[in-house]
Amino acid sequence: MDKVKELQTIIREFAEKRHWIRENNGKDLALSISLEANELLECFQWKSSSEALETNLGSIKEELADVLIYCFRFADEHGLNIEELILSKLKKNAIKYPVL
Ligand SMILES: [Mg+2]
Repeated sequence: MDKVKELQTIIREFAEKRHWIRENNGKDLALSISLEANELLECFQWKSSSEALETNLGSIKEELADVLIYCFRFADEHGLNIEELILSKLKKNAIKYPVL
């Protein structure tokens, strides 16, 4: 099993054990990605990037993990392959933003 699928299984099992899995909850997962991204942003509020990283690294790591966990759940729930999504988007970005 590849590492991404292994992580998705661990995350899904974590949610299942707590009865957090619901059908058709793409909207809630997308909302959760955004909310956790804002919690990540909050770690930087009123600080420079370097100040935030020096003083809030623990929280930054936790909020980044929350964002990634919901991204992995979203992809898992919708049968989307994360590796394919990223590689496909990078390919598209390379065309849109050519190296000058
Ligand atoms: Mg959080």
